[in-house]
Amino acid sequence: MSTSSPGHHYACPVCEYRYEERTGAPREGFPAGTPWSRIPDDWCCPDCGVREKIDFEYVEPS
Ligand SMILES: [Zn+2]
Repeated sequence: MSTSSPGHHYACPVCEYRYEERTGAPREGFPAGTPWSRIPDDWCCPDCGVREKIDFEYVEPS
């Protein structure tokens, strides 16, 4: 099975930032492949800084 198909992601509800487990967020200290469950609950959106992990919305693969 393919492991490179576009996956689900988590979207900030107030800005355009998206977190994908496949690519991670290296500038945030989360290398590619870091599962969402490993992101700290108090992590804030790096773009807008006003939303935390729990506010992010799960987006199905398109
Ligand atoms: Zn944001």
